[in-house]
Amino acid sequence: PDLKMESLKLSTVPPKDTAIETENSKQLISKALFDQVTSINHDTCEPGDEDPFFVCDLGKVERLYYTWIKSLPRVHPYYAVKCNPNEQVLKLLASLGVNFDCASKGEIETVLSLGIDPSRIIYAHPCKVGSFLRFSKTVDVNLTTFDNSDELYKVKKHHPTTRLLLRIITDDESAQCRLSTKYGAPLANVSNLLKLAKQLELNIAGVSFHVGSGANDFGSLVKAVKDARDVFDLGRALGFSMDILDVGGGFSYESFNESSKALNFALNEYFPLNENVSIIAEPGRYFVANAFTLAVNVIAKRGGVLESSTSSDNSSPAMVYVNDGVYGNMNCILFDHQTPKAKVLTHRGEFLYDDLNAASENRFNVSIWGPTCDGLDCISDNALLSHNVSVGDWLYFPDLGAYTSAAASPFNGFKANAHTIYVNSESC
Ligand code: PLP
Repeated sequence: PDLKMESLKLSTVPPKDTAIETENSKQLISKALFDQVTSINHDTCEPGDEDPFFVCDLGKVERLYYTWIKSLPRVHPYYAVKCNPNEQVLKLLASLGVNFDCASKGEIETVLSLGIDPSRIIYAHPCKVGSFLRFSKTVDVNLTTFDNSDELYKVKKHHPTTRLLLRIITDDESAQCRLSTKYGAPLANVSNLLKLAKQLELNIAGVSFHVGSGANDFGSLVKAVKDARDVFDLGRALGFSMDILDVGGGFSYESFNESSKALNFALNEYFPLNENVSIIAEPGRYFVANAFTLAVNVIAKRGGVLESSTSSDNSSPAMVYVNDGVYGNMNCILFDHQTPKAKVLTHRGEFLYDDLNAASENRFNVSIWGPTCDGLDCISDNALLSHNVSVGDWLYFPDLGAYTSAAASPFNGFKANAHTIYVNSESC
């Protein structure tokens, strides 16, 4: 596909059945996990052969896209690259017509290196590095955000012709990760900012906001759209031809039904179709969280009940050590307040992915730790596993695609870039 395609054109392939979890998906993920873990001889393998790895189901990403356009037909998604800059995901989304939210020179370069046209990028950072802003001018990225007067002077100096969206503050108190504590202009400042932009002869094209990552109060989404309406009215009264509303990110598959209904309601109320305002969004988590499964190897174990496959005595939980943790792909525990759910993948050579027969009464209470020498590196201090795992077994964590590999560090010499195996499931 031509990744340079015009920026506001979404894929028009007829929607498929959009269920995310399908039998075919389970089968493909299971086979990929099985092939990988059974290919390793733990007694003779080379250093690193038993490293953690991801399985990514690109079919899920595609179905999430179709769910998006079915539920939010007016809203053009700009995928937030920061969430997971995986190239296969970027290419797939680009081929479907999704555009990109980049927040740094590096992210812009990643997207451009895939042959994607710069008109499909929003440099969505209200406090940019000056040299990055100059860079964005040289590569023709001409849409960005701001929320303060210093940024306006910076834009005037380095990229005076870029189109600007004024990012306003939102009520994000209930979000998993708050963003308005750091970014967003208070509504009381909006008038002065718009007047300054006028004075500097800058081009205000609209408004942006973000209700917080992992948001679950959709009243704040409606309120933010209403506030944006007020800012549009102010801006237009000052002579700006504003025609872009950017509703940010914060969507998740689990609450998408609710959030898309709230957003559609607000858009119809405050930005009716006949106004010809382009509505864009910056979803990150929504597209990738459910598409990645992480597999990790049990490298050590300490304490707990003596090896017994029938014991359910949880009085002294064992400590299970695995080869990925909070400095690696599970940094989301610290930075993103996620609680990854461990499941047993293999037990004494038996492969157990998605094992519906795992006896629920025989749960083994363990704490799970990452491989680095830091006490902070704890994945769970209270996990219930279906089997009494031992060294050499594998665990897996479903739904670990958002804010995981993107921020993994090589601390303590453990490799940051986990290998990813791709599968592509169908809708039924
Ligand atoms: N846009 C901006 C400006 C952000 O800061 C973020 C996340 O931090 C996103 C979009 C993506 O948010 P989410 O992954 O919750 O959709």
